Amino acid sequence: MKKNNDIVLFKDGKRYDGRKADELRPIVMKTGVLKRASGSAYVEWGKNKVIAGVYGPRQLHPKFMQNPTKAVVRCVYNMAPFSVDDRKKPGPDRRSVEISKICTEALENVVLTEKFPNAVVDVFIEILQADAGTRCVGLTAASLALADAGIPMRDMVAACAAGKVQGEVVLDLMKEEDNFGESDLPLAVTPRKKEIVLLQMDGKLSREEFTKAFNLAVDGAMQVSEMQKKALLESPVEVEK
Ligand code: UDP
Repeated sequence: MKKNNDIVLFKDGKRYDGRKADELRPIVMKTGVLKRASGSAYVEWGKNKVIAGVYGPRQLHPKFMQNPTKAVVRCVYNMAPFSVDDRKKPGPDRRSVEISKICTEALENVVLTEKFPNAVVDVFIEILQADAGTRCVGLTAASLALADAGIPMRDMVAACAAGKVQGEVVLDLMKEEDNFGESDLPLAVTPRKKEIVLLQMDGKLSREEFTKAFNLAVDGAMQVSEMQKKALLESPVEVEK
């Protein structure tokens, strides 16, 4: 969280982009966007643009990496060089390795891996344009892509962040709020049982602020979950010829 005392992020109940404290950015979701993937999804969330592709389940090679009792889930989060203000050096870095790991762990909770021994399910999250909250957008898109691939799952994963900006607890931080705010709390839930499969925090919150931000983010994720359901119902149905 950088310091900038000039930027006004919250005034008269309105945020930097005019939203109310508990308002999400506009979100558009689409599934079945990649012809060669087993399943895919594209999500625009504010200024974020994210695509997710799923390959598998297929046999895992090399063989010594196979698990005879369940499938391995591998999620890779990648930011395109043109996705951020300063060109991002291509390839993995500390941050993308961390986000890949937490997304893998979140998705392992929902994929019925025991149905596919010795197999691998590969999930690729590509950030085409970033404006804060990309791990939440990526995870939401990845879950949609898994459902689009027809991979058996216990539940979906829907994600959203909340945080604190100039003393106010707000939902779904955009880039300026993420950069100059006091705290960011991204989380992901399984909407049916409301289990938390991702919870991270940046900056500082009091106990009361944490509870408020946590509840706000869960409510946000539940709204995201409703949008996921709608996107899946509107998915194009392919008829085999
Ligand atoms: N960001 C950037 N360059 C980077 C990494 C991040 O400009 O190398 C920006 C990008 O807009 C990202 C935001 O900083 O969405 C917040 O990054 P953070 O690590 O908090 O993850 P996110 O909120 O995207 O999950």
